[in-house]
Amino acid sequence: MMTSKKSPIWHPFTQHALHSEMTKVVRGDGAYLHTADGRRIIDAISSWWVVTHGHCHPQIVSAIQEQAGKLNQIIFAGYTHDPAEELAAHLLKVAPPGLDYVFFSDSGSASVEVALKMALGYWHNIGKQRIRIVVMQHSYHGDTVGAMSVGARGVFNAAYGPLLFDVTSIPFPASGREQATLDALESACRDEMPAAFIVEPLVLGAGGMLMYPVWVLREMKRICEASDVLFIADEVMTGWGRTGTLFACEQANIVPDIACYSKGITGGALPLAVTLCHADIFEAHYSKDRTRTFFHSSSYTANPVACAAAKANLDLWQECKYRQRVAAVAAMQEQALEPFREDKRFANVRRTGTITALDLKTSEGGYLADVGPKLGAFFRDRDLLLRPLGNTIYVMPPYCVTGSDIDEIYAAIRDAAHALA
Ligand SMILES: *Cc1c(COP(=O)(O)O)cnc(C)c1O
Repeated sequence: MMTSKKSPIWHPFTQHALHSEMTKVVRGDGAYLHTADGRRIIDAISSWWVVTHGHCHPQIVSAIQEQAGKLNQIIFAGYTHDPAEELAAHLLKVAPPGLDYVFFSDSGSASVEVALKMALGYWHNIGKQRIRIVVMQHSYHGDTVGAMSVGARGVFNAAYGPLLFDVTSIPFPASGREQATLDALESACRDEMPAAFIVEPLVLGAGGMLMYPVWVLREMKRICEASDVLFIADEVMTGWGRTGTLFACEQANIVPDIACYSKGITGGALPLAVTLCHADIFEAHYSKDRTRTFFHSSSYTANPVACAAAKANLDLWQECKYRQRVAAVAAMQEQALEPFREDKRFANVRRTGTITALDLKTSEGGYLADVGPKLGAFFRDRDLLLRPLGNTIYVMPPYCVTGSDIDEIYAAIRDAAHALA
């Protein structure tokens, strides 16, 4: 097929035959994006869930500038640096107590691969044959092969199916059916001697902003603990205030054995990820025997500039005004959502912390339903960055969003339902 070739760039999750025009953005400032053609767009999804305090936060920008002129890259095997050391120490102070070690990588997917390798390495090194991973239906953990294997199977990975390893899937704890999830987890833990259970705490992001209650998270952790199954919390999306607390696991008062953080870790300024783990996992690799080394690295592991950005972000979280912003955004979101709870054109109107989601009722569902791109185009014309997951519209703004931005976002959602339902 002939394509009119304007740019050689192949964009992610983009069908170029249907969507050839990319919006060119020249500047970001707080909750706004400024386009090359002079428009101001409200970034209602934090540029794919990463920009927590708004674009170009001055304290993060200056930390980056300062570090970039000092040391901007260094091999991380056999070498270390202050930004990484200070960041790691600070992370252990804010993460659930009982996480003792920090392994750096540079994307959420990589942090999940690291988590899986840590879990398998742990069992291998203590001489136990535990290799199976238990996952939750509708989960998303990234797009690398291991991360895809533990995520939902579907159109996104059908072509690569033969590469993916087998997992045991438990049902999503839909409202009223939570016990089935817990029973399935209990029998998987009992019958299959799995190495680990990996889950997104409280909100399944890419799977459709599916939300489940705190008590279910707490119970799942209890079940894993009772059968010695490692509990991996993938907080790549839920971390950094999204669910109302810094990390979602706090709400259930649980400490995962392994936790993955990325997306908002630098406030959304630079790519960075960490996988935190319990000391037992580190110690299973600690030996004079080189074969027990944790064999994972990427060229930019703990890049000093990214670490400096993350450190500046953690400093922001020390100031109470940023935590207050999270509470304020959650309250504004709840208020804006209220009228939709009665609106017959929508179903499953829901919120966890600062994240809201609602499903536009349509005859066709699923991610590939035409309504998704139609909604996306509608919002683009309204100078809003919203990117529905099929017929699921969700709002996940940076915490600097204002009440009038929120009003604008929900007015557009109401109008979209009127135009498209
Ligand atoms: C986005 C996401 C990932 C993957 O992160 P990338 O940085 O895009 O590789 C993994 N897990 C969850 C829960 C995510 O939302």
